[in-house]
Amino acid sequence: MNYFIIDYDSTFIKVESLDELSKNSKNYNIKAQKKIEKITELGMEGKISFSESLGKRIRLIKCDKEDINKTIQTLDGLVSESFKKNIPFLKKNNDKIIIISSGFHELIDPIVVKYGIKKENIYANRFLYKNQNIIGYDKNNYLSQSQGKVKLLRKLNLKGKIHVIGDGYTDYEIKKEGLANSFYLFTENIKRESIVKSADYLLKSLDQFIKIIK
Ligand SMILES: [Mg+2]
Repeated sequence: MNYFIIDYDSTFIKVESLDELSKNSKNYNIKAQKKIEKITELGMEGKISFSESLGKRIRLIKCDKEDINKTIQTLDGLVSESFKKNIPFLKKNNDKIIIISSGFHELIDPIVVKYGIKKENIYANRFLYKNQNIIGYDKNNYLSQSQGKVKLLRKLNLKGKIHVIGDGYTDYEIKKEGLANSFYLFTENIKRESIVKSADYLLKSLDQFIKIIK
């Protein structure tokens, strides 16, 4: 059995969903936004730890459930072109496809299920709320921790060939720690030069992956 582990932010969708959430916030301000983007970038490049990056961003994002709903509408229109184009592939392989994201279920599930992804095959974080406002996230969830994707893969203990598709360092880490056979750096939306040398394949689009695994 082959498993296709697919990242969400900047891979399944064109953007970083937390950045979009903060833009949709009623409390939006450009200074906080720039800070959030910078932190995202540092995390993606492996320059600060993931848990540090997530903790800092959640403290800066002041959002509520209404902002989340607005963001889902935005993200719906920001699915990567080659994913939109290959819905039949995604549907046909939905028992093999696992979405593993350090983003949040609230911003992922409503989008990807439309592409045939099975709900039980989505692994992500969850927000904690108080009076409709986001006040934090579940820190016991592996995906909120550093090396979270690695920890989760270890726990899932999948038997078969593991292919990881993603744009970031945390995706590569799965292969680095010996839990995947191949790492495909997804460059349709962003090409992170610092990770290029670590990739087994560079994917300009999902079409290329479909060709490779045929
Ligand atoms: Mg990503």
